[in-house]
Amino acid sequence: MARFALFGDTSRRIAEADSVAVIGLGRFGSALALELMAAGTEVLGIDTDDELVQAHNGELTQVVRADSTKDEVLRQLAIGEFDRVVVAIGADVQASILTCSILLGMKIPVIWAKAVTEQHGRILEQLGVHHVVYPEKDMGRRVAHLVRGAAIDYLEIEPGYSIAKIAAPAEIRGIPLGRTTIRQKHGITVTAHRPVDGEWLNADNETVLNEGDLALIVGPTDRVEAFAQLQ
Ligand code: ATP
Repeated sequence: MARFALFGDTSRRIAEADSVAVIGLGRFGSALALELMAAGTEVLGIDTDDELVQAHNGELTQVVRADSTKDEVLRQLAIGEFDRVVVAIGADVQASILTCSILLGMKIPVIWAKAVTEQHGRILEQLGVHHVVYPEKDMGRRVAHLVRGAAIDYLEIEPGYSIAKIAAPAEIRGIPLGRTTIRQKHGITVTAHRPVDGEWLNADNETVLNEGDLALIVGPTDRVEAFAQLQ
């Protein structure tokens, strides 16, 4: 009891800062928690697995071994003080649902949860979880577009609309973008570019791309894919 009260005090202090609680430190939760830390966000990590807790000790602001399906445990950890919580439990669907239900009961303003199947995701959405993510499905779809086309990186912002990083094709090199008529001809817009050995810059009508430059293009998915195939 005293141990949890101690964690509760620490969690409360963490929660006062720019902070996130991450429940489940598997591959997804761990990568997310470490990325948050790298970006300067305080992270309270929670997992039932002692080895994972030990492994993350010192890497996250605070790591606690606890079972998130227990209402009183989450209360003792002062989870209710956090305004953002990520539930990164996948395989144990029941634990994921129970945890989310407790967090919703605590009125956490923003809850993100990982779903492993459509059914799992639907239940989380019906419960009222604010953001449901499907890491494996999303990554599979993303890689499919990379495999199909020549894009260096690719993200479907919403079904049917995408953004891609590509090598500037010959057709748009050497003349200001405003004179290339790529919007009319290809239905895409170049939003940014990176000259060879340079940094990313916003693109405008006067921007001239050269061989070896990278371009960030946005537009309907089929048009983005088609444009990425150009050499
Ligand atoms: P990943 O692909 O991210 O590794 P996974 O879906 O294979 O995830 P899961 O079994 O879903 O793995 O769990 C992710 C983590 O969540 C595990 O480290 C597990 O110990 C932890 N976890 C599972 N149930 C609970 C719980 N009730 N409370 C806290 N942590 C939990």
